[in-house]
Amino acid sequence: MIKNMLKISFRLILIICLLIPGTIDPLAVYAASKANTIAELKEELNKLKQEKAQSDNEKELTQSQINQNIQNIQNADKEKAQIQEEVTAAQNKITECEKEIEEVTVETQELLKYYQLTQGENQYIEYITGASSTTELIMRIAAVEQISDYNQKKLKELDALIIEKQNLQVELAEKEKELEAKIDASAAAISSLKGQLSALNEVNEDIDSQINNQNALIKYYEGICDSDTQPLSECVKVASNSGWTKPLVKGKVTSNWGYRVDPITGAASSFHNAVDIGGNAEGTPIYSGTNGTVAAITRKSSCGGNMIYIHSEVNGKAYTIQYAHVLTVNVKVGQTVTINDVIATVGGGAQTSYYDRCSTGAHLHYGISTGYYLGGGADGYSSWSKFVASSVKPVGFPAKGVWWYSRF
Ligand SMILES: [Zn+2]
Repeated sequence: MIKNMLKISFRLILIICLLIPGTIDPLAVYAASKANTIAELKEELNKLKQEKAQSDNEKELTQSQINQNIQNIQNADKEKAQIQEEVTAAQNKITECEKEIEEVTVETQELLKYYQLTQGENQYIEYITGASSTTELIMRIAAVEQISDYNQKKLKELDALIIEKQNLQVELAEKEKELEAKIDASAAAISSLKGQLSALNEVNEDIDSQINNQNALIKYYEGICDSDTQPLSECVKVASNSGWTKPLVKGKVTSNWGYRVDPITGAASSFHNAVDIGGNAEGTPIYSGTNGTVAAITRKSSCGGNMIYIHSEVNGKAYTIQYAHVLTVNVKVGQTVTINDVIATVGGGAQTSYYDRCSTGAHLHYGISTGYYLGGGADGYSSWSKFVASSVKPVGFPAKGVWWYSRF
């Protein structure tokens, strides 16, 4: 199936390349298309547009995921800043507590001095005995004990507070680590999503160019097909015929374009740059196969006899059309001709044999080369070898030996 399709595609491209060189570009695209009609081309276009819409959606989704991850990082950064503030606050509190502990410790130590009777310190005794009454004495003893108790309680509280704040710091450090891990994960996600996005962009561009090509292809075939359902292969024949007509009303190809056994020299494989059209008597009218301008009229007795070269633009491309072995020449150099003009009559037979030594009977040698041979235009050249090298197969002729009875 695929092999067949490839075969058909290849044949079609080959035919097109040979028939209408001016339209190679859209048909190069045809190779990628499996469509047989404009309608099918349009179906393919719709599918491409669906693919494009899907790819656009995926792009949007990926972009929103990237944005979400950026938001996550920003939030985590904010949280981190908050935590750092809390850590600082905890540290400040710890410092404050430590200072207070120091103060209380000093105060307590001072108080304790009153108890240290054994060391000969008698401030406590002095303080106690300094009481003016027993009641005051009891109060003083109680006060010292209370202050001492109070301080011990306070020290315990401060110690507990420091531990609490230290625990908080550990907790905050863990939270910060978690946030950093979150930020790292989001950054990794962004990097991967950006990779996906760039791949999607490439896919999207590819679909875009396919859509452009498909549109060009549809436009091209709409110009040459009668309907959306006409097989494209038929449209192509119409296109070739619209640019080229046969130079003779009836006839048959007696010698094909391409390599052949030379009828004069017998060489096994000489290149024949034209189709030879037989089946017409000498003097039969020869029409211009294309609209164009007569570029040159030459006479070469060694081979070719009277020859007319016409410059034509067909499907936007420059060609030189050669009519050789003619009996009479009905046009002048510089004259514009249309496909309705009789430009010459068939020779190559008995009437021309005395000056045209390479013809084996009445026929028209009808050759086509790309560019303008014998000067003229940007494509102009004057080398005969280039003219032969630029030769393309004349279009619209039936197989060798098959008669036709219409120029169109
Ligand atoms: Zn020939």
